[in-house]
Amino acid sequence: MARATFYFQGDLNFFLPRHQQGVNFIYQFKERPSIKDTIESLGVPHPEVNSIVVNGKAVDFSYLVRDEDRIVVYPISVTPKIIPTIPLQPPLPKIPRFILDVHLGKLASSLRMLGFDTLYRNDYEDAQIAFVASQDKRIVLTRDKGVLMRNLVIHGYYIRETEPDKQIIEVLKRFNLSNVVQPFQRCIRCNGILTPVAKELIVDQLPQRTKQEIDYFHRCNSCRQIYWQGAHYERMEKFVRQVLFRTREHLSTKTIVKSERNYVFHQLSVNSCS
Ligand SMILES: [Zn+2]
Repeated sequence: MARATFYFQGDLNFFLPRHQQGVNFIYQFKERPSIKDTIESLGVPHPEVNSIVVNGKAVDFSYLVRDEDRIVVYPISVTPKIIPTIPLQPPLPKIPRFILDVHLGKLASSLRMLGFDTLYRNDYEDAQIAFVASQDKRIVLTRDKGVLMRNLVIHGYYIRETEPDKQIIEVLKRFNLSNVVQPFQRCIRCNGILTPVAKELIVDQLPQRTKQEIDYFHRCNSCRQIYWQGAHYERMEKFVRQVLFRTREHLSTKTIVKSERNYVFHQLSVNSCS
């Protein structure tokens, strides 16, 4: 039986049993398995891995493990001292798009509220998520390691937090998104784009009090949901401000001021009429 030594850096230890966390450990194998399959057999999904160093040299996922290899596996948050590293995934677009698994409905709503193109359905199958992610070049966000281990998934992330209010902050930090949010641009219900609509075109659909008190409206271009600045707006605006504040705690004041202006410019009326 051949033996290799593994060490996993940073938050990749999240996926390992306690006795393998933060230490070198031995992995036994026959023939020469691919390093991608080996890492996944140890419990770490390949989209979580940003670079791999074997015996002091960077390798990609096609590398075949040899007897006595010393292997260090890195997440995106830890940069190896070995240069050059070999990128394991193509670069992400500056404003990424997402697809979420069935456990993450509240996170989907929060991402849409912040303006991110986010696909979510409560009946998605794993294979469907992987296929759509591959076709649309979307990032898979999930609480299911099996989805991330599918070969079609290139970009993906396992959500560590279990509380939705913490999950949105986790995603903004992980993908460095706090400066590209565009709150209240997108339909929370269906992911469509919101555009202004004249009051006279929708007045028949409004509750009596809204008819009297509100003059400016937006409508989803997909499901036709109507939005306005009503009772829920202040609560949602407070939520957005809290999320951005907590996400940016580590950023400079200059950065905050710059994107705060962007946020004020983009804020729209939000309240559903259904
Ligand atoms: Zn909609």
